[in-house]
Amino acid sequence: MLIVQKYGGTSVGDVDRIHHVAERVKAAAATGDQLVVVVSAMAGETDRLTGLAEAMSHNPSAREMDLLLSSGERVTIALLAMALTGAGVPAQAFTGRQVGIETSAVHTRARIERISGARLKKALSEGVVPVVAGFQGVNAHSDVTTLGRGGSDLTAVAVAAAIGADRCDIYTDVDGIYTADPRIVTSARKLERVAFEELRELASLGAKVLQTRSVLFAMRHGVPLQVLNSFNDRPGTLVTEEDVAMEQEAVSGVTYDRNQAKVTVADLPDHPGVASRLFETLSKADVLVDMIIQNVSREGATDISFTVPRGDLERVKAAVSAMELEGEPLQIEVDAEIAKISVVGVGMRSHSGVATRMFSTLAEREINIKMISTSEIKISCVIDDIYTELAIRSLHDAFALGATDGDTP
Ligand code: ADP
Ligand code: ASP
Ligand code: MG
Repeated sequence: MLIVQKYGGTSVGDVDRIHHVAERVKAAAATGDQLVVVVSAMAGETDRLTGLAEAMSHNPSAREMDLLLSSGERVTIALLAMALTGAGVPAQAFTGRQVGIETSAVHTRARIERISGARLKKALSEGVVPVVAGFQGVNAHSDVTTLGRGGSDLTAVAVAAAIGADRCDIYTDVDGIYTADPRIVTSARKLERVAFEELRELASLGAKVLQTRSVLFAMRHGVPLQVLNSFNDRPGTLVTEEDVAMEQEAVSGVTYDRNQAKVTVADLPDHPGVASRLFETLSKADVLVDMIIQNVSREGATDISFTVPRGDLERVKAAVSAMELEGEPLQIEVDAEIAKISVVGVGMRSHSGVATRMFSTLAEREINIKMISTSEIKISCVIDDIYTELAIRSLHDAFALGATDGDTP
């Protein structure tokens, strides 16, 4: 079998752990499988490099930022290739450029456009294990780009698609995908299987276990995906197409996103074109708007509230305060102390009452709901940030997601 293995930052967090990964790769290679290994930078390294850039400039150039950030993965590929060779496994380290990972032009969140698998295939045919730097590529100007935080997951999945791998195994520091972040909910249960769509929702609604774009990529290209723990040999979580068995439970997981802020623009005139002007202005300011609600008061004025990533808040304030409607400046209120909590499950398609249970669980805890949004397989509520953990634990209990006797903890 041809397998892509990806090891995240904690798994290659220090010298001993890199040796440990080398031993795992060696054992897998000994079974006769052909392997391509993708690695992240050491845990904390990308944050450290970001801090260095911020110490140089309040607004560091994105091109230089990418060059800087991509250096973290260069270190780990070189070290792992050395460890593998030392352990008797022929291996070679490759940067994104060296394996032909071509991306869009945009820095710090480039998209992968093409991977020429030639160099990887050549190494494989020579019995060499290629060790590929995650998170990076090169654009048409020959400049190094990065793929957004957590982007090594995307590298792994895209490499697996490009070389037609039989499977992509994502090794991390927990046993797989859980019903909730196991760092917050101690009774969270590892899922044996999760549907691509559920994982995509969980990831995009805040569960940072896999980068959202990597899940979308795997879904679109049909890459069989598994999430496992690099520190033990327990079975992980298989990411599969949805099936009837999965729909038996209404909810598969709960998640949260604390990186949001709520903005309200009050007393807007209630006629066609107002929302369109507001959101056009925000989109020109490169603001990513998420939830939106609009209320028309009896007097005929409109309030529009929406959520944005906290990091976009300054741009929102600048863009909206520069706007005028009918000669009047806009009134804007901002609440950055919010969190979005969500319940996700393909079973929601066929079970009713999920929203009622979610709202009544929050009400019992006296947690106020500030915004609500739903789709076919998820319900999200915006609440005060301080209640995030209480809300997540209460919802996890209310939907009986926890481990029962006999489950692996
Ligand atoms: P890596 O460095 O291996 O890429 P990440 O830190 O990006 O690892 O992702 C793994 C982390 O994701 C876990 O340590 C866990 O705290 C967090 N996480 C959040 N939600 C979930 C979930 N539903 N299931 C599993 N892990 C989750
Ligand atoms: N090192 C990058 C990050 O910390 C990419 C990754 O780990 O996936 O975001
Ligand atoms: Mg990650």
